[in-house]
Amino acid sequence: MKLIRHLFAGVPAYAALQPDGTIQEIEGDIFGKFRLTGRIFKEGKRLAPVAPSNIFGVGLNYQSHATDLNRTPPERPMLFMKGTNTVQNPDDPIEIPQALASHEVDYEGELAVVIGRSCKNVPRARALDYVLGYTIANDVTARDWQFKLGGGQFCQGKSFDTFCPLGPVLVTADEIPDPGRLQLTTRVNGEVRQSSSTASLIFDVPALIEFLSASKRLLPGTVILTGTPQGVGFAAKPPVFLQPGDRVEIAIEGLGVLANPVQLEALPAAVNGA
Ligand code: MG
Repeated sequence: MKLIRHLFAGVPAYAALQPDGTIQEIEGDIFGKFRLTGRIFKEGKRLAPVAPSNIFGVGLNYQSHATDLNRTPPERPMLFMKGTNTVQNPDDPIEIPQALASHEVDYEGELAVVIGRSCKNVPRARALDYVLGYTIANDVTARDWQFKLGGGQFCQGKSFDTFCPLGPVLVTADEIPDPGRLQLTTRVNGEVRQSSSTASLIFDVPALIEFLSASKRLLPGTVILTGTPQGVGFAAKPPVFLQPGDRVEIAIEGLGVLANPVQLEALPAAVNGA
């Protein structure tokens, strides 16, 4: 099933995307029991398909990306976190930070795993039982704040507002029996920048869930960004960063295409409210 989240009468609601493009109402909790009601609705504004309870990122999880950055692949998953403030909707803009400026904003096309049920200490053989589904993520990163200005931590460079576009749909796990065989392609302004398969992940989805859940309870709605392959702008010679007017599209087999324009952060930013 392809789940979407949209604004229905001004309130975020889940619905099921039908093959003909219409959406069908869902009753219940997608993290518990839910069913399709049979009622067809007109879709409202499309939202990111999950409001994450946590966002965990994994760095250097493709050999090709580690080679790109002249780094040795890690012996165990290299974990970081992104704030839940970073979530952005499909087709809404990635904003280049202006208040705390960045001049090195970069894309990272990634397979994102959405945890469906609370779990801890999950062996890899049972890990996929806890996955609700999969979506596409852009782990947008300000390289200057990641490597030079962030005090050695990734948090600042990874956690600007709009730095985690998700979507366009959440495809339930029954439709993706093997998340380790999906083609991923990232285009910027139509030009292919990343083209790889999740078969090249160093730590695959079950291994990541086993590792993460060994130290942390994974709550329903936890999003795991599985890492990005070769071809980020930072590794180009010379480096190429996102500019206002660019458009980033990330396609993953079976999950659709996540597209976002790029614009400058509007100033003055709102101090209060959403
Ligand atoms: Mg990443």
